[in-house]
Amino acid sequence: MGSGIIPYMSALPHVVILGGGFGGLFAARALKRAPVRVTLLDRHNYHLFQPLLYQVATAALSPGDVASPIRWVLRRQRNVKVLLADVHRIDAAGKRVVLNAAATGDAEEALSYDYLIVATGAAHAYFGHAEWAARAPGLKTLDDALEMRRQVLLAFEAAERETDEARRRRLLTFVLVGAGPTGVELAGALIEIARQSLRQDFRSIKPESARILLLEGGPHVLGAFPQALRDKARAALERLGVEVRTNAVVTVVDADGVKVGDERIAAQTVLWAAGVAASPVVTSLGVPLDRAGRVLSEPTLAVPGYPDVYVVGDVCALQQDGRWLPGVAQVAMQGGAHVARNITRAIRREPPTPFRYRDYGNMAVIGRAAAVVDLGRIQIAGFLAWLMWVFLHVFWLIGFRNRVAVMSEWAWSYFTMQRRIRLITGERLWPKAG
Ligand SMILES: Cc1cc2nc3c(=O)[nH]c(=O)nc-3n(C[C@H](O)[C@H](O)[C@H](O)COP(=O)(O)OP(=O)(O)OC[C@H]3O[C@@H](n4cnc5c(N)ncnc54)[C@H](O)[C@@H]3O)c2cc1C
Repeated sequence: MGSGIIPYMSALPHVVILGGGFGGLFAARALKRAPVRVTLLDRHNYHLFQPLLYQVATAALSPGDVASPIRWVLRRQRNVKVLLADVHRIDAAGKRVVLNAAATGDAEEALSYDYLIVATGAAHAYFGHAEWAARAPGLKTLDDALEMRRQVLLAFEAAERETDEARRRRLLTFVLVGAGPTGVELAGALIEIARQSLRQDFRSIKPESARILLLEGGPHVLGAFPQALRDKARAALERLGVEVRTNAVVTVVDADGVKVGDERIAAQTVLWAAGVAASPVVTSLGVPLDRAGRVLSEPTLAVPGYPDVYVVGDVCALQQDGRWLPGVAQVAMQGGAHVARNITRAIRREPPTPFRYRDYGNMAVIGRAAAVVDLGRIQIAGFLAWLMWVFLHVFWLIGFRNRVAVMSEWAWSYFTMQRRIRLITGERLWPKAG
């Protein structure tokens, strides 16, 4: 398979990057002036800003506001070639990646590399219950977000037509599994949809009577935050009207809803914000993985036994000062930039350096104008925290157009309490005729 960019570059070392998320994109950018040619592969043609994905799922933002074509993002970087491709496996011994060739019809399509950066991120994990996926969609891709939006809005529509009170209650019950930042953010947004955005739109139902339940198997909401912020987040959610339950382990997800212990909760809509596992591509490396399927990397982010292969972001398991690095965007961005530096050093025949993550803090938004921010010694909750959240998310968004679009959408919905993108899309609206 041809991989050259400009003919004179073909003699340069070839860096292949798997994944155009935060890790892959920041690695590619950091290689801008390096004497290498880069090929970046992704199964999607867009870079997705996952921290704002819940806003697409809850009708506040459009897909195009939180995603940008990777090809466009890297258009000015002449040493990068972008390919839309699904990676099937890594043949580390043969120094090549094997692609899923369904798109081209070839038997097997492979790409050789001198250096490989694996940044294929994570997927949902249903704790050994893969069958729950069909009933409780998770939030990882744009398609997931549109599916969530579809299910949430359809439930209100179906309730408007329903005359049986018990069935109507079931339609207006929304269960969120997992009270990490994604579950908390979804819960805050759903209660806002029910209590504010849809308030005047229906005639037979009162959308504000919808039940939003946030179920957490562990003892805390926002378990990764300090206790004071966990308590504030829980109190803020309950003030908004979310029913928060901790130590509530979901044991069944089925057509009727969920079961927590022996208690049955009838719900039409169940949304999954609990476990994640590393992208399965890394299993083909044949090296030790942790329980979440992440590669136990060297401190340099190299894969043990393969000094030319690096893992970055959600596929990498590394401890720093006795704690595992979290699966957040900053770890992936800084890791991507670090492996780019290590590859540049390797080309100069210098030894690689260990990765050191700089933690700038952790934040989660709760409803319309509140958030919690943990900056280590400083902890902030409420409106000021929300302003910081707004500023940082706009700052890190890729693309000027997206920044302007998101700011104007947020300003509009802040003052009107409306969510404009309440569109039910997808083919499965009605049973197929005939
Ligand atoms: C809903 C949600 C909200 C989040 N909120 C926050 C937040 O507020 N703050 C924060 O710091 N972090 C947040 N995170 C976590 C953060 O987004 C991830 O830690 C970060 O995206 C990891 O970057 P990555 O490069 O490892 O993977 P990703 O950004 O997930 O990128 C992986 C890329 O690899 C591609 N890919 C995967 N498999 C293949 C394959 N086989 N072939 C080809 N391409 C492939 C994917 O298409 C994707 O583009 C959130 C995550 C989610 C899902």
